Amino acid sequence: IREAHPQHRSDRGKAPAGNIDYSGEFEWTGALYDKLKTVFGFDSFRSCQESICNANLDRRDIVAIMPTGGGKSLGYQLPALLTPGCTLVISPLLALIADQVMHLHEAGVDAVMLTGATSKEEQNRIYQRLQAMANGTPGAPDIKLCYVTPEKIANSKKFKAALDKLHRVHKLARFVIDEAHCVSQQGHDFRPDYQKLNVLRELWPGVPFLALSATCPAAVLGDLLRTLGMRRPTHAQAVDETVIFSTSLYRKNLHYAVLPKPSSGTGSIEKMRDYILTHHRNDTGIVYCLTRKDCESVAEDLMRLSDGAIRTGVYHADVADAKKEALHRQWREGKVKVVCATIAFGLGIDKGDVRFVVHHSLSKSLDGFYQESGRAGRDGKDADCVLYYRTQDAMRIASLTCNERGGQDKALAMLAFASDLEECRKIQFAQYFNKSSKMSLSFFRTEEEDANTRCGHCDNCMRAPDTLERLGVRTRVAAWQLLRVAADAGRELTMTQLCDLARGLGSSAAAGPGKGKGKGRAKEKATVDLDRVAGGKVELSREHTEALCVRLLVEGYFTLSFHHTAYSVNVYLEPSATAARFTRLGKDDVEQGGGPPFDCVFLKKPGRKGAASGSGHVKKAPEKAKAKAKATSASASASTG
Ligand code: ADP
Ligand code: MG
Repeated sequence: IREAHPQHRSDRGKAPAGNIDYSGEFEWTGALYDKLKTVFGFDSFRSCQESICNANLDRRDIVAIMPTGGGKSLGYQLPALLTPGCTLVISPLLALIADQVMHLHEAGVDAVMLTGATSKEEQNRIYQRLQAMANGTPGAPDIKLCYVTPEKIANSKKFKAALDKLHRVHKLARFVIDEAHCVSQQGHDFRPDYQKLNVLRELWPGVPFLALSATCPAAVLGDLLRTLGMRRPTHAQAVDETVIFSTSLYRKNLHYAVLPKPSSGTGSIEKMRDYILTHHRNDTGIVYCLTRKDCESVAEDLMRLSDGAIRTGVYHADVADAKKEALHRQWREGKVKVVCATIAFGLGIDKGDVRFVVHHSLSKSLDGFYQESGRAGRDGKDADCVLYYRTQDAMRIASLTCNERGGQDKALAMLAFASDLEECRKIQFAQYFNKSSKMSLSFFRTEEEDANTRCGHCDNCMRAPDTLERLGVRTRVAAWQLLRVAADAGRELTMTQLCDLARGLGSSAAAGPGKGKGKGRAKEKATVDLDRVAGGKVELSREHTEALCVRLLVEGYFTLSFHHTAYSVNVYLEPSATAARFTRLGKDDVEQGGGPPFDCVFLKKPGRKGAASGSGHVKKAPEKAKAKAKATSASASASTG
């Protein structure tokens, strides 16, 4: 049995460096298991929960990255019970805090919350108790956990004074920052008040941090450590360095699929309706939409087009608080089955039986998409995560993210995911979340999960090869033609304009961007002598040509430029420097395979032999297939027998 590291004594920083195995046994291990059982009713820990508790009780700074529903809360709730003083938990949402505190009270834990919604009397009671703790008043039991929103730290002098007093008598046990990715502007859910948490370390030094998140790409992690003033981890693992726990973000019970989205609004709702009624008729689900307006119309249309069979609710930032609460309740009780929502819905949602999450449109980033879709299946049972994708939506998220820092790169990563018809979704997520990580996260990984093994149950793993087509040199030529036309047009072109122009349908380019709103520009007619510039027209369907444009964009052959009008942002495709290496060549060279490697696979058009667009209910597919195979072999043997 190991003793705690001595860094929490006066010699913090001078303590010897060394690798500490936090999965081992410590002097508190018996007590830990005892509380796990008696207070929380669990027999065992999940993945790295125990290690987090141990590092936490050893007073280390910790970042713990675990998937939604992974059980992050236990990582501080349990240590809070084993240390004197108060654990301060900072959490972004009232609903989330209320939920946690309710659960803790049920378990008999002394937890309180101080938020904008706490009554004056209750606040006074809490401040009195904190004061009593600071004074060491005999017989006054410690508040074990105090939940606050970040505004409290940023804005309340009274609260800061109370923390000062606790700190002086060493009764501030730890700071927990839940949903810690909210600190970073590069994350998908930035909250300005989270940045003000940088005062924690300055004002109350020596109090260990536990930062929790389900989505923490390297850049976000860097921001997080910097903002909170936590020391970057190195391989030396000195005791004042942050310990990072990161379990695999892969969740076996989630079945990902990207489905083609019809270009008409009604068409896409009808598809979603059919999907929900076929696979999730009585299930609870979420439909994520990009804008508030989309939420309203999607909810209404789903209800109408299903004759009320799909009971929908709407949730976005403009919905009044009382209505939000009511919706939460109806949803919990199962009176509303499907919530059509913006990303405002869900942070920290604790409803286990969400059986499907549908994305009506692309998310603005892959972290966002991972987090949103991750609200499905928190109970560990199978759930579907379906993204409806069409190329026009690609341009839409590009325009919506053009003013955000790093917005374009994030949107491109999302697009790369959505437009990929071959790579396993699990591998795509793993590559994205590990990309350009300057810190060797794997060093701290507690759960080794081979990131390169295909999951075997996402749309791309299950896709029948004959539903895809590769056009070989035709794709290369078309790519070359598109880039040449874009370079030669003499004006900026939207994707639609470029595709029309290159396919010899020059008229649409004359209509101009923004349906006549950007008047001056709209009138310049783009004309290109296709024979001279591109050796003829692009001989691909409209869908294929657009898919090819997206591929070229994702691979860096096109860059985006933006033009702001009074009502919208127009997005244009421009050939990049990489493209120049390609377009320099003659058509003959390209036809003979010259130039940079470039390829693109396409979904075969539905209706053609061997084509299928996939059901998006991937889990059932193998069983069905198996059942079918069984039935066939049974009938075969029956007939032969
Ligand atoms: P997260 O914050 O990571 O999304 P939570 O802490 O809210 O997850 O936990 C998710 C669910 O898992 C909760 O219902 C919790 O009670 C349950 N849970 C956590 N740890 C364990 C465990 N060791 N054994 C069984 N259930 C657990
Ligand atoms: Mg949580």
